[in-house]
Amino acid sequence: MEFETRAIHTGQAPDPETGAVIVPIYQTSTFAQEAVGRFRYDYSRTANPTREALETCLASLESAEHGLAFASGMAAATTVMHLVSPGERVASVNDVYGGTYRLFERVYAPKGYSFDYLTAEELGAGLAARLDERTRLVWVETPTNPFLRVVDLAAAAEAAHAVGALLVVDNTFATPYLQRPLELGADLVLHSTTKYLGGHSDVVGGFVATGDGALAERLGFLQNSLGAVPGPFDSWLVLRGLKTLSLRMREHCANARQVAAFLDGHPTVARVHYPGLAGHPGHEIAASQMHDFGGMVSFEVDGSREDALRVVERTRLFTLAESLGGVESLIEHPGLMTHASLAGSPFELPDTLIRLSVGIEAAADLLADLEQALAGTAPHAGGS
Ligand SMILES: *Cc1c(COP(=O)(O)O)cnc(C)c1O
Repeated sequence: MEFETRAIHTGQAPDPETGAVIVPIYQTSTFAQEAVGRFRYDYSRTANPTREALETCLASLESAEHGLAFASGMAAATTVMHLVSPGERVASVNDVYGGTYRLFERVYAPKGYSFDYLTAEELGAGLAARLDERTRLVWVETPTNPFLRVVDLAAAAEAAHAVGALLVVDNTFATPYLQRPLELGADLVLHSTTKYLGGHSDVVGGFVATGDGALAERLGFLQNSLGAVPGPFDSWLVLRGLKTLSLRMREHCANARQVAAFLDGHPTVARVHYPGLAGHPGHEIAASQMHDFGGMVSFEVDGSREDALRVVERTRLFTLAESLGGVESLIEHPGLMTHASLAGSPFELPDTLIRLSVGIEAAADLLADLEQALAGTAPHAGGS
């Protein structure tokens, strides 16, 4: 079956008892047993039918045999980090989600785990030389956040496997509709389902998928032992989001393409970061491993931090807010908001950088909103 069909039907057959077309929200912590130890479900931390429907459906969309849902993207990341032991290394993309960087540096580094941060280019060809037998995980996002840099996933998988490491891909920005890392050799795919998969900015959740049975068994054990699981209602919201994922992603991509082209030609904009632009350094790789270029666009205003702050405070349709991937457009200042935890680190962001999560409103309205917000930013006289 095709992707769009599986998003609506896989793991979601009508309820045999009642005929309910939609998977019910099994809001229960425990289940009656027929006899001691004879049961389909026993306790909702271990397994719950609503969560299981989500796990089955989203695993299928990622071309995975196994899927595990978590209470948040960070809960998924924390659980995956339990595959690593102190003394082992993780090689991560340097442009990693700010919360993941904080987890690595402020939670795990003090416990004796080591982290190397590599650029998107270093994670492609030539990566093998930077890894060693202590490397347990190679942790990649592509496109990255907030610069939308692109990592060659097939090359990263080959280099990771050459030293016995696992390739973990945080696929939150692309979603399985645009990119399926397991098909390119990755071992684990991770999501913040809070973003495009939920799609309506009304739930926080996480997910991990894999095609490897032994890894799935270990992660299932960790999911139950660590207990960072989503409740039935949150699982149901993400499952509902998946049904329209393909429709929404097509609109996000089409709108983002127009927004990127508009910004690219605007006199008050110094640089646009969007992998769909031919001049973007990751354009070729993105075109080969993604079906389209996604709904996230970042740009740098030609001016000062105050100019950037004026723009993010002046938009009317683009709401000033953290997060991304909902139907509504959002605007934010990564340096002071989502990526504030990078302040003072080698990865501190330019203070003129603005990030857009382009929603699925009418493109003409979005362009008009950006036009009026940028109008007050005079082109910078001195250049730089
Ligand atoms: C939001 C996000 C996370 C963290 O997910 P939460 O659901 O907020 O815990 C991880 N990675 C990426 C790329 C994200 O955008």
